[in-house]
Formats: sequence, structure tokens, C-alpha cells
Amino acid sequence: MPFTPYHFGPAGLIGLVFKRRVDLPVFLLANVAIDIEVLIIYGLGLGWPHHRLCHTFLGGAVVGIAVAAVCFPLRGVFKKVMELFHLAYNTTFLKMLIWSILGVWLHVFIDAMDHWDVKPFWPYGKNPLWSANGGLNDYQIKMVCLICWVAALALLAIHLARHNMQDTRHKTQDPRRKT
Ligand SMILES: [Zn+2]
Repeated sequence: MPFTPYHFGPAGLIGLVFKRRVDLPVFLLANVAIDIEVLIIYGLGLGWPHHRLCHTFLGGAVVGIAVAAVCFPLRGVFKKVMELFHLAYNTTFLKMLIWSILGVWLHVFIDAMDHWDVKPFWPYGKNPLWSANGGLNDYQIKMVCLICWVAALALLAIHLARHNMQDTRHKTQDPRRKT
């Protein structure tokens, strides 16, 4: 996928649907972090194929471990950001590790369906996901990601609206509460 932000759609949707189980910030970050590989190859003008070791399930697992190790000390910051959206945040290193690796793998899975040059099952050199993508072209895969984006934003809006309604109800029920 040429544009990393598309990946936020499916990742955000999965993360919000299973928000009690998923470490959402880490899952989202892992979905983006993997494209540093493409950025470096592009940026340094190395002339290599854009998808290399990080865009494989094996190499991606290593990226996932690195992302979890970097994110773990930042868990306090993540909690504050989640609170802004009234989303509960409880995590452990194991939870971060699992969702970080799954985040990278989701990215590899989507990219492998979109790009023939991704080798998800490296060292196996072929890309069976590309052949099995049901004939979807790049444009259609982007559209699916965009639909996921819209659905994720809708879910977030519903969650925030519900929270506001509960908050208003509490305020009207408890006259001692001033704010
Ligand atoms: Zn990618």
C-alpha cells in the first residue's frame, strides 16, 4: 500500500470492535511502524524493491517485538491519550507484544494482497495472498480500507455519544454534582 494511512482503517475498526481486548495504541502504531522500511528504501534511494524483510510474517514479528519494547515505557502516555476518547486502557507487556505483532501482521496481510512483490511467507519466495485476493485491484483494496476508516470513525462517534449521554444522565440524577 503506497500510503500508510490507509492501514489505519482496518486496524482502527478491529481495534474499536474488540476494544476491551486490543491494545489499541500499540496495534495502530505497529500498523504504521512497519512502513519505515519503505520510507528508508525510498528516502535513501537504494533502488531495492520496496517490500523486503519487514513485510514478511517472520521479519514482521521481529518488528512487532521492537515496537512493543519501544511502546512499553510509553504506556502512561497511551493511557492519557485513550482517556481523551473515554476509552479504558489497561495493558501488560505481553498484551502489547501480542497486539504489536498482530498489528504488523495485519499490515503484511493487506500489503501482500495488494502487492505481488511482498513475500509474506519468506523464506518461501511466492506470494499466495496476492494470487488469492479475489481479483481485487489496488483501487478496490484502498476503497475497502477507506470504508473501514469510515466505519471506525462511526464507531468512535457512537462510543463518544454514548459516553456523553451517560454523563448527562448522571449529572441530572445527582444534583450534588456540579460539573
Ligand atoms: Zn507496507
